[in-house]
Amino acid sequence: MSTTERLYYSDSHLTEFEARVTGVTERVSGWVAVTLDRTAFYPTGGGQPSDTGMLDDTRVIECIETEDEGVLHVLQGRSLEVGAQVVGQIDWPRRLDHLQQHTGQHILSQAFINLFDAETRGFRMLDQYSEIDVALDAPTEEKIEKAVELANRVIWEDRAIHVRQVTKEEAAQLPLRKDSAREGELRLIEIEGFDLSPCGGTHAARTGEVGMIAVRSFERAKGLTRIDFVAGNRALADYRRANHTARSCSAMFSVGRDEAPASVARLLEENKQFSRRIRSLEEVTARVEAEELLSEAQMLSDETKLCARVFENRDAESLKKLSQALIAHPKTIALLGSRERDAARLIFARSPEAHGDMNALLREACQMLDGRGGGRPDMAQGGGSNIDKLNEAIEMASRHLTDS
Ligand SMILES: [Zn+2]
Repeated sequence: MSTTERLYYSDSHLTEFEARVTGVTERVSGWVAVTLDRTAFYPTGGGQPSDTGMLDDTRVIECIETEDEGVLHVLQGRSLEVGAQVVGQIDWPRRLDHLQQHTGQHILSQAFINLFDAETRGFRMLDQYSEIDVALDAPTEEKIEKAVELANRVIWEDRAIHVRQVTKEEAAQLPLRKDSAREGELRLIEIEGFDLSPCGGTHAARTGEVGMIAVRSFERAKGLTRIDFVAGNRALADYRRANHTARSCSAMFSVGRDEAPASVARLLEENKQFSRRIRSLEEVTARVEAEELLSEAQMLSDETKLCARVFENRDAESLKKLSQALIAHPKTIALLGSRERDAARLIFARSPEAHGDMNALLREACQMLDGRGGGRPDMAQGGGSNIDKLNEAIEMASRHLTDS
């Protein structure tokens, strides 16, 4: 059992305390950790990271709950001596942040029970936001916002939050939000007229201290609804980030902040129309380009025209259009390649009367490019990563056709 007296149990706003060092141990990590006869430091647990602070002039970087020794205070810097009287100091901004998120979670979880009879099954406090997993079926924006509204109403009513110690038997008679696996005395947190649940964490003195709650997003996860929320100072920080994002986006369109989504939607629609227009223009230019290439084509012995060419940065669609424009001419073979930053692509095609197995030629060429591809005897495509070999691969295929 724990041997440390927990000062944060009775006063979560206590930031300075005196204590005696009862033990010093070296951690596997090489850090030194001390135990105290009493502490105001909350150790990691219940989904909440630990407090940090100072013991005299030594930094406390983490506190860990252990079964045998109580709360371990992991130190960075000079160690302390067993028996020494020390002054402990909790980092208040971090404690305030944690108790805002944690108390906010009590309130939000109870709001989901009140409105939808949906229990909270998990809680994690992360760096910038927290998550709860709620047994809420078919979640909608509307349902979630209803719970957020109720939670904020309770916060702004500034209700008192009480800590009560009860026996297991007394607890069994009370309408607790969740059961506790703990034996012996139970510590109950009561948000006046709203929520009653067993908890060993650090809480606000009144609900007003939580400030506000906002939900950032939600998703279905493992049969539950995972809700990503922020409370108190984090809600303000998150608002600042979101506002900055929205404003920098709207500035690009020279419109008001809230008009940005409409501007983005218009831009995407325009972009779609441009893409369509480019595709249809490409068909026209491909026909013109094909004429040009044919005028320079190599004539094979059976009077088939062979067009072999490597382009820079030409996408698959455009390469395909050009090959189609070429083989629309009788007795024509097209061996086309395109070189991009990290990949080469190939398309080999012939008109129906021309001879040659494009599939076999392309497979061999792709091997030279350390890639693969395939198709039919009259049309095949592929590519590879060895872009330096692209010219050589096309020359090899041309040679096969001129020699045959
Ligand atoms: Zn709690």
